[in-house]
Amino acid sequence: RIRPEVIPAIEIGVTFADIGALDEIKESLQEPVMLPLRRPDLFNGGLLKLCRGILLFGPPGTGKTMLAKAIANEAGASFINVSMLTITSKWFREDEKNVRALFTLAAKVSPTIIFLDEVDSMLGQRTRVGEHEAMRKIKNEFMTHWDGLLTKPGERILVLAATNRPFDLDEAIISRFECRIMVGLPSVESREMILRTLLGKEKVENLDFKELAAMTEGYSGSHLKNLCITAAYRPVRELIQKERLKDVERVDEGQSSEDASDTKEEG
Ligand code: ATP
Repeated sequence: RIRPEVIPAIEIGVTFADIGALDEIKESLQEPVMLPLRRPDLFNGGLLKLCRGILLFGPPGTGKTMLAKAIANEAGASFINVSMLTITSKWFREDEKNVRALFTLAAKVSPTIIFLDEVDSMLGQRTRVGEHEAMRKIKNEFMTHWDGLLTKPGERILVLAATNRPFDLDEAIISRFECRIMVGLPSVESREMILRTLLGKEKVENLDFKELAAMTEGYSGSHLKNLCITAAYRPVRELIQKERLKDVERVDEGQSSEDASDTKEEG
């Protein structure tokens, strides 16, 4: 039986500093997200209401998962990653009991962030034709427990979800996310900041960050990371190529000296 993996805050290993750019988003998360996790006592149910759901939406590879992990880490919260795989494994057959177990687990290791990656595939349109009955039950059970969190301010559990397809979510789900944050493709200034963050610990000489940022229009943070990895391999490939050439030269030299001694003997 696959259980959702719980990652304690100290083992997450991603901080806000590892995320290039996205400064406004990091800032906007402080009051509705970080504060309730750290100081639920300040939220008395009046105007200061606890935010129980945050939706991060935007194109793939823009850092939504990274943000979710960094939030958990910086707020000292455990991180439970719940994907369709966890839900549709053995969990699925035991359906709603498993959702209950998820929230019990979250309460046990609290403060907790329950992270729903690709939330559209799990909590997508409820009226979808041919929707599996068990899936519908899971969704309803999830929503019941999620709503229940509002009556338990001491239980520091937050549902954080990410999607590339926000329009596949129905109103009932969307309205439960009090906080909705768009994580879009980075601007030229943001690409420069992301590149500087990604290459911060690397030995980089004569790189014009501004020029590279200008050349990478339409790249996501993930594309920029792949670009940096490919570039990092270049000197390694060149080195290996040189070493191979040296080996070939050595073999050639050995061969020609053998040939020379053969000719001598023959002579
Ligand atoms: P998806 O929607 O496909 O799940 P995502 O928005 O959740 O993507 P992440 O998984 O957080 O994106 O990012 C993928 C990888 O891209 C990260 O592991 C990181 O290496 C890199 N990355 C993305 N954005 C940034 C950023 N702003 N700063 C540094 N690295 C980034």
